Order: sequence, then C-alpha cells, then structure tokens
Amino acid sequence: MVCHETITNQRLVERESCKVKVLVLGGGVVGITTAYYLVKAGHDVEVIERQEGAGLETSFANGGQVSASHAEPWANPGTPLRALKWLGKADAPLLFHPRIDPALWGWIIRFLRNCTHTQASRNLERTLRVAMYSRESFAEVREELAFDYDLKTRGILHFYRNRTDLTQAKHAAAEMAALGLEQEFLDAEGCVAVEPALASARGLIAGGLYSPLDESGDAHKFTDRLAQVCAEKGACFRYGASIRQLLSKGGHITGVETDSGEIREGDAFVMSLGSYSPLLLAPLGIKIPVYPAKGYSITIPVKEGGIAPETSLTDDENKLVFSRLGDRLRVAGTAEFAGYDTSMNDTRAEGILNKAMALFPECGNADKVEFWTGLRPLTPDSVPVIGRTPYDNLYLNTGHGTLGWTMSCGSGRMIADLISGKKSAIPFDGLGMDRF
Ligand SMILES: Cc1cc2nc3c(=O)[nH]c(=O)nc-3n(C[C@H](O)[C@H](O)[C@H](O)COP(=O)(O)OP(=O)(O)OC[C@H]3O[C@@H](n4cnc5c(N)ncnc54)[C@H](O)[C@@H]3O)c2cc1C
Repeated sequence: MVCHETITNQRLVERESCKVKVLVLGGGVVGITTAYYLVKAGHDVEVIERQEGAGLETSFANGGQVSASHAEPWANPGTPLRALKWLGKADAPLLFHPRIDPALWGWIIRFLRNCTHTQASRNLERTLRVAMYSRESFAEVREELAFDYDLKTRGILHFYRNRTDLTQAKHAAAEMAALGLEQEFLDAEGCVAVEPALASARGLIAGGLYSPLDESGDAHKFTDRLAQVCAEKGACFRYGASIRQLLSKGGHITGVETDSGEIREGDAFVMSLGSYSPLLLAPLGIKIPVYPAKGYSITIPVKEGGIAPETSLTDDENKLVFSRLGDRLRVAGTAEFAGYDTSMNDTRAEGILNKAMALFPECGNADKVEFWTGLRPLTPDSVPVIGRTPYDNLYLNTGHGTLGWTMSCGSGRMIADLISGKKSAIPFDGLGMDRF
C-alpha cells in the first residue's frame, strides 16, 4: 500500500506504513535521482529502462550546467519576435519544421499564451524554486557520496555581445534577485577576469552576468554513478525493458507491460520517461503538453596546453553553453522542433563547432569532436510537471526541458517526500499537471 497520511489542521502529523515498492519508469537523470531519494527513504525501488544502462538518452551529453540562473522561461515577451528573425536560417538557435502534428500546434499555442510578462514572471518563480532547491540538494548528495563527475564549482558566466540583450537580461536578473538568486554584473574586463580564456574575445563582449553558486558537471557520469549507489543500497534495475503501456484498474495503476513481460508488483509508480512520458500517459487519459525539443552538443578533447574555459559559460547571442568536463570541452545548444526525430543535421552540428572554434580557436582538436543530439522534454511554460495524477498511485516527475540536470536532485527529492508522506521542503504549488 502507498503510505497512508493522516492530516490534521492541514498539517501532516502522523503516518502509517512506510516502506512501499516503487517502480520508477525511466532511468535518465530524473528517474535515477528519484530512485536515490526513494531508496534513502527506505523504499523498495525498481527502475525500468529500455537502454542497457542509466542516463543514455537525453541525460547523456547535455550542456553540463547546473544553472539556476537560467530559470528564465523560453516563453517570454521577447521570444516570438526573436523566433521570427531566426525563421529560415539553417544554423539559427531555433529551427521549426512545420508539420501536421496536433501535439506540436497545441504546444505552440500554449507557448504563445505564456509569452506575457505576467506568465513569464509566474513561470520563472516556479522553475527557480525547484532549481535553487535542487542546487542545495546536489551539494548534499555530493557530500554524502563523494564520487567524481567532472564537477566544477566556479559558477556560470552568461556573457552578452550587445547592450540591448544585456539590458534586457538585467531585468530578468533583478527579478531573480528578488526571488533569492544573486548574480554579479560584469563589464568585458570583469568577464575576462572570471574566465581568462575569453581574453581574445574581449572586444566582442558587452558585459555579463555571473552566478557564482551555479556549477557544472557530466550528467551522464553522475547518473551512472548514482545508479550504482542505488543498486548497492538495494534498488533493482531492469535494463533493456521497453515499457509498452501502464496497466490500470479504476483509478489505480496495477502494473506495467514491457516488451519482456508484465511487471505486476508495485505499490507506486513514478513517470520519468522524459520526452516519451506523454505517449505512455495518453492511453490513461492523462494529457500533459510535453514536446521533444531536439538539441545538439559537441564534445571537443582539450589539447595539451589548449586554451579552453574552466568556468562554465553561456554565449547569449548564439544560445550556446560551454562546460569544461575534465579534459573535454562540452558545447551545447539549439532547439529543433522535429517530433521524435533524433537524427543529426550536419549544418547545425557544424554550426556549433564553428562558433565554438571561433571563440576558442586554441581549445582542442576539431577533428576529434564527438557530435550528439538529445530530446529535451519541454513544457510550454518551461516548468516541469511534478506531483500527483488522478490515479492514486501514479506520480509525475517529467517535463524538465532545458533544465533537467539542474532540477533533477530537487524534483527527485520532492517526489520521494510525496510518496513517503513527508512534507516537502518547498511547495508543489504550480508544478502539477492541474495547471494545464
Ligand atoms: C543539447 C542539450 C543541452 C542541455 N543542456 C542542459 C544543461 O546544461 N543543464 C540542464 O540542466 N539541462 C540541460 N539539458 C536538459 C536535460 O538534459 C534534460 O532535461 C534531462 O536530461 C531530462 O532527463 P530525464 O530523465 O527527464 O529524461 P531522459 O534522460 O530522456 O530519461 C528518460 C529515460 O526514459 C527511457 N525511456 C523512454 N521511453 C521508454 C520506454 N517506453 N520504456 C523504457 N524506458 C523508456 C529513456 O531511455 C531514458 O533513459 C540539455 C538538453 C539537451 C538536449
């Protein structure tokens, strides 16, 4: 049975049976952090994942930034005009493939409705709440487990090439400061002082915003190692099992059907299938507007004596992020709305490489670059979907979009608390599926 809660005067005061069997659906960074907090809370956990290991899809080669400072939603008043300017440019940060896809058009309409000041401020608060809590939670996990994942705690520097964008960014930064996230304003010299590898680009930089408490690291290494920790603590992993459907009776989930048979044991179920979550939820009558936004990354081996950044960076004009992961430089960005197609568009991939090499010509060997694409599970308001469903034992932890690595520890902890009947350290307000 799912933990029973007794609520008196709106406050949780007592709980009955604690240990439940939880099936975590999906072994990306969100599923694995959820599994970790569930195991820590004493539950029996089983992770069902179609790949042969953890973190092998969207959590594999992302931008590496744990960036609460990037909580500003994509849907904001400036986006529609910017998107129009990018239309038709093959290497623009945003590429849209018009197609007959009701899910895409429904998503776009919702996205446009979120492009007002009021909605953007509301969405910023929601995402920032989870991202800041997650950053704290990361620090605790690290302290407890001490494994290597190419962590850098040198902050994130977001630099701008023109004054108009910098001025606009200052408004968002002021809003974030009011919500507790402090950033420092820097001129070009200040940016170079934070990251000396930018010295040759000094003349291109109008200024920057530095978020000293943000960090970076290899999401795949983290996910893989955390999965090992979960296994050592007793969690089961069913890899190579593709979920076909969730089985239900009345308002209760009774199991899952995979390509290798049914799994009937499970008191609670957490949906963390990333971009694929809405496909498995729809047959249950649950509609959440999570749409795949394809992104690209390149990983450049840093050469001996190479001049590559150590501090994680965001190049605002090109919408690219740079993270130093040990002896590699990860560069990621762009969004392409092309359904579930993960194929590589060479023009876009080469575009990222050219922009990275233009900024850091001495960083490494361009011939040994690894290219990758992944599907961000994006909601139209850029806020993840965390919480309960109309099914009494099905929980959602999905739709983290551009910030799934950033928000993973915080949202995993929230869901584990919810299943354990424990009050979460931050409220769930505005994060659930009921907002759609
Ligand atoms: C180019 C790029 C750059 C990014 N940069 C950053 C960044 O710098 N910072 C940041 O915070 N975030 C970043 N992100 C976003 C982040 O990577 C994602 O939000 C995050 O990885 C989502 O994690 P997830 O666990 O929800 O999804 P996934 O990692 O996709 O995990 C879902 C899992 O479910 C499994 N699965 C799916 N369907 C089934 C099925 N039917 N049966 C069984 N298993 C199934 C998949 O195999 C997968 O392992 C970036 C994303 C991209 C694409």
